[in-house]
Amino acid sequence: MSVFRYKKGRLYCENVSLESMAEKVGTPFYAYSHKALLSQITAYKKAFSSVPHLIAFAVKANANIAVLRVFANAGGGGDIVSSGELHRALKAGMDPKNLVFAGVGKTKKEMKDALRAGILMFNVESAQELVALDETAKALGIKAPVALRVNPDVNPKTHPYISTGLKKSKFGIEIVKAVSQYQTASLLSNIDIVGVHSHIGSQLTQVKPFVDALKRISRLISALRKRGLDIQYWNIGGGLGITYNQEKPPMPKEMAAAVLPLLKKSGCRIILEPGRSLAGNAGVMVTRVIYNKEGEAKNFLVVDAGMNDLIRPSLYSAYHELRPVVKRRRKTKVVDVVGPICESGDFLAQDREIPQMAPDELLAVMSAGAYSFTMSSNYNARPRPPEILVHGDEYEIIRKRETMKALLRGESIPAFLDQKK
Ligand SMILES: *Cc1c(COP(=O)(O)O)cnc(C)c1O
Repeated sequence: MSVFRYKKGRLYCENVSLESMAEKVGTPFYAYSHKALLSQITAYKKAFSSVPHLIAFAVKANANIAVLRVFANAGGGGDIVSSGELHRALKAGMDPKNLVFAGVGKTKKEMKDALRAGILMFNVESAQELVALDETAKALGIKAPVALRVNPDVNPKTHPYISTGLKKSKFGIEIVKAVSQYQTASLLSNIDIVGVHSHIGSQLTQVKPFVDALKRISRLISALRKRGLDIQYWNIGGGLGITYNQEKPPMPKEMAAAVLPLLKKSGCRIILEPGRSLAGNAGVMVTRVIYNKEGEAKNFLVVDAGMNDLIRPSLYSAYHELRPVVKRRRKTKVVDVVGPICESGDFLAQDREIPQMAPDELLAVMSAGAYSFTMSSNYNARPRPPEILVHGDEYEIIRKRETMKALLRGESIPAFLDQKK
């Protein structure tokens, strides 16, 4: 059952009403449910309990250190893509031995940071990156643990912007070149080959693409072992979808049932990198209606959250369910829900039939726990919203609303622009 429920006509996150939080912190704000975060990682751990495994949360989905701590406390680790995410994961208390580092553009500086921290492994995405990592490790006098990210060339049947496992994708090494890349890697003196990695895309709603990809990788693992390479870890990536609207994505246990036979046969330690499916439905963003604007061709509901606060609708035409925080008998109306940003692409929903809302009323944007706050910006000089973590009937602000002072942090006016000389 969802942790977001109406009680006496008021929408709650666990046992705290969103209305009371809005009074306390203002709008817009994000609220996450501790219970939902924990129950999702627990579902994964249970589903994969029959194999040695690590759940490495994709930190890019929700990087707040309190959220990361929830997963760390549950034995989870992190899938990181930058020194910034490494820093966050360590600050949150994640064990470096539970961190894996992906990304096509790791710099030597980032490699050094991660090597010094002692992470579990690098998911290397190209031949040049491999050489750079070997050199970096050599300079530190250590070996870098490596999995190559292999691109299995399967169509995950998701939005093109979040599809990552096709031949034309910038990610990973083509599977037909994988064996020779591994052989090259094995000759590098400061590279220690420990595993194989693939991640085919995000918001996947079927298990078939996973199974197809993993079958291909399974054959690759056999081929590598035949050549004497010691493949201990099999990182199957993330990508499981969530219900934003009517989607019926597989649950972790259904995904596990489909892939476990293959995984078990390999004898590998399994790594998973879920992001969206761990955090997406654990969060909401709450915004306040400013105006109703009636147009000749369209009606607009103008709210106080914009694309700087939540960009997914603008970026991917993503659907987020909208719910009034206070339920009443209302007529419905077809509106574009738009923010205050000076861009036509600034909307939370288009041509959406929702209950009529009056100025000052609160609207909850559902499924905003992943790729939501982390993608926020200061565009239009808007301070980023606060984040709240709810735990039963208590809650805590885990990131304050940005201040005007924070907006200018690091900026200065050079002396040569000073005209009163
Ligand atoms: C983004 C990403 C993930 C997480 O994807 P979700 O769809 O959020 O589960 C996992 N692994 C890699 C390498 C990624 O880039």
